[in-house]
Amino acid sequence: MAHIVIIEDEPELAQGLCDNLEFENHSVCHALTGEEGLALVTSQATDLVLLDIMLPDINGFEVCRRLREAGYTMPIVILSARGQELDKVRGLELGADDYVTKPFSLRELLARIDAALRRAGQAPAATARARFPVGARQVDLVRQKVISSAGEVPLGYYESEILRILHEHVGRAVPRTELLERIWGTGVFPADRTVDNHIVSLRRKLEPDPKKPKYILTAHAVGYKLVL
Ligand code: CA
Repeated sequence: MAHIVIIEDEPELAQGLCDNLEFENHSVCHALTGEEGLALVTSQATDLVLLDIMLPDINGFEVCRRLREAGYTMPIVILSARGQELDKVRGLELGADDYVTKPFSLRELLARIDAALRRAGQAPAATARARFPVGARQVDLVRQKVISSAGEVPLGYYESEILRILHEHVGRAVPRTELLERIWGTGVFPADRTVDNHIVSLRRKLEPDPKKPKYILTAHAVGYKLVL
């Protein structure tokens, strides 16, 4: 079903949640601190985050803020002993989707998780498509950047759109005509070499050796494919 990350510093509560969510056929990872939780969420495709507020290091509000700031759009359900109205408002303002006050009934929490996942649409792991690794680099399509240990390089609009479509069909060749139609629209005829020029520029940003591409390959007489 869904991949859920629980960020909760009470081991017994977290274990109970893991067991119940796994029983509902979800896969679950658990972090005891905010920083550990952020690392878990950003290192894999995550469909939903269950987030405690009072954590030993950075609090849940900060975790929520950082995830949204980085462009992650998966539902975040805050799980907190504080039931005060102000905390709820703050959580929701920072981009959380729901707020459940401890002690909660397990049945209610599971129902809210299901509802949040349904609302998130029939697009599991949407974040996997918004941000993904290409070799040692990370592509962030929300912020339109390539991130590497050397820093960040901006992606142009057309470069981002080409990458998005290649990533949808990862491992398969996407015809040049499909890229033209989906990005520029039917009836618009940009210059012949338009797609190819953007590919050259993408390779400069993503390939260790742009002359010998490993990730963005040419499918002869067809188009291009992304290999990860
Ligand atoms: Ca706590």
